[in-house]
Amino acid sequence: MFMNHFAYFAPQTPSETLNLVSRLGNKAKILAGGTDLLIMMKEKLLKPEYLIDINEVRELKGISYEPGNGAVIGAGAKISEIEFSGIIREKYYALHQAAGELGSAQVRHMATIGGNSCHASPAAETPPPLIALGAKVLISNVFGDRELPLEEFILGNRVTALAEGEMLTKFILPEPASKSASRYAYIGRRDAMEIDAVNMAVNIVLEDDARTVKTLKLVMGSVSPKPLVSTEVPAILTGREFNSELVEKAARAASGEAKPISDIRASAEYRRELVAVLTRRLLQEVFGAVSGKGV
Ligand SMILES: Cc1cc2nc3c(=O)[nH]c(=O)nc-3n(C[C@H](O)[C@H](O)[C@H](O)COP(=O)(O)OP(=O)(O)OC[C@H]3O[C@@H](n4cnc5c(N)ncnc54)[C@H](O)[C@@H]3O)c2cc1C
Repeated sequence: MFMNHFAYFAPQTPSETLNLVSRLGNKAKILAGGTDLLIMMKEKLLKPEYLIDINEVRELKGISYEPGNGAVIGAGAKISEIEFSGIIREKYYALHQAAGELGSAQVRHMATIGGNSCHASPAAETPPPLIALGAKVLISNVFGDRELPLEEFILGNRVTALAEGEMLTKFILPEPASKSASRYAYIGRRDAMEIDAVNMAVNIVLEDDARTVKTLKLVMGSVSPKPLVSTEVPAILTGREFNSELVEKAARAASGEAKPISDIRASAEYRRELVAVLTRRLLQEVFGAVSGKGV
């Protein structure tokens, strides 16, 4: 499989990169890990005239954390760096889990967190936990930056809010609240780099009594064209003492909210059942992680 001919640029600084992105516009594609882009080029689904390789730009990489303020992750940070980051594991556990599930070790060493959101596959691993954790993205062009919640950045299957001349530069994660926990899980047909049939992330905050739900965010992947943020599950649980009856109600509500399609990986009906299974499992896990108890 041959790719089209293209001109290759490897800028060294953010301003060089943004100048290229602005000048070359929609004729160019950013090359991060290339684990989605190069496949699409080989399959002739994309034929960019220019590639802008961002791997040499130090400022687009890395993970920083400031107590009280949260974390900033460069769009060019590799998934493996996120998987093995002590601070991500300690503070943003759902993201740590999702990073560890993406592809294979080889893919995780190439792929970036920015590429995962910009490719905007409905089955992508990291957007649901990032959204559950309240992540915002920093979008940059030659004139400056703008911030958007990640849930407003991903607009649909392979569609994002990026305008011509813009690129994604950072993910901004708030400091987790006290008495909070997050978890991620996926189900696929087999455990061998299978694309997820359904994935899900939950972030819960409990009141000081460690029983009453203060806030909750549940995000499902692979059940609609973009990550689906549940409105019904928080409505059922917020302000209530956590118990197994509410969990069951929440599982059924999430299942009803999901809008899956049938494809080679699973039928829509099976996916809805998986949503109920993951909702039960993750709600119990996050509650147990904060309260130290199950229900
Ligand atoms: C064998 C295999 C297994 C995989 N398994 C999984 C899996 O289990 N879960 C999963 O979620 N994904 C999986 N993937 C898909 C892929 O690895 C991920 O989506 C990955 O995170 C993409 O990142 P990348 O850096 O390689 O992106 P690239 O391929 O470099 O780019 C993807 C797209 O995003 C654009 N882009 C990249 N960075 C930016 C930026 N900073 N600003 C603007 N646009 C940008 C590119 O121009 C391109 O259009 C798999 C891929 C392979 C090949």
